[in-house]
Amino acid sequence: MHHKDLIRSFLCYTNSGDNMDKEEYKITIKKFFCHLHTVNTHRFRVLCLCFKVGIPLQGLIHDLSKYSPTEFLEGAKYYAGTYSPIMNCKKDIGYSKAWLHHKGRNKHHFQYWYDYAAPIETPIMPFKYILEMICDDLAAGMTYQGKKWYPDYQLTYWNKVREEAKMNETMKQLLDKVYTEISLHGLKVLKRKQIKEWYDSYIK
Ligand SMILES: [Zn+2]
Ligand SMILES: [Zn+2]
Repeated sequence: MHHKDLIRSFLCYTNSGDNMDKEEYKITIKKFFCHLHTVNTHRFRVLCLCFKVGIPLQGLIHDLSKYSPTEFLEGAKYYAGTYSPIMNCKKDIGYSKAWLHHKGRNKHHFQYWYDYAAPIETPIMPFKYILEMICDDLAAGMTYQGKKWYPDYQLTYWNKVREEAKMNETMKQLLDKVYTEISLHGLKVLKRKQIKEWYDSYIK
């Protein structure tokens, strides 16, 4: 890079008002429909997995808040394709209203249950929401990885985020177990009875 370009890019970066970065994040018709497709595909995958583990109603209403203007318009604006638009938004403005809106309304996210002022900051989630969370995590990986998805993807991903997650330690151990078993045996171990057995052995 020439040093004039360097200075120019530095200036562009520092007056972060109306520069190229902002230009990049604009809703286009294409991004609108791509995001709609991502949400629909994700919801369909979650629905299939939820049927598999016996929570069809939760599968049907899963992530409906993603169609609300607060969540949908931000998702379209920051559409990325291979990862969550929420990350782009956070990088751009420091927080994501879509995510704050989403986690405050959807019990399948452990962040919904987090409360630093409660006796236990990170309580153990009810079993039916843990099931939905597992379906959600697997489906999110499948949606973004596409054909590159493989059964040990979730374990690899989980190990990257595990430490940082403000989640109950026992629940973390349960997820270690679930994702390790899936990496070894594939989705055939994803059964309500099996996961309930593990849940009971860790939680009680
Ligand atoms: Zn969700
Ligand atoms: Zn979801």
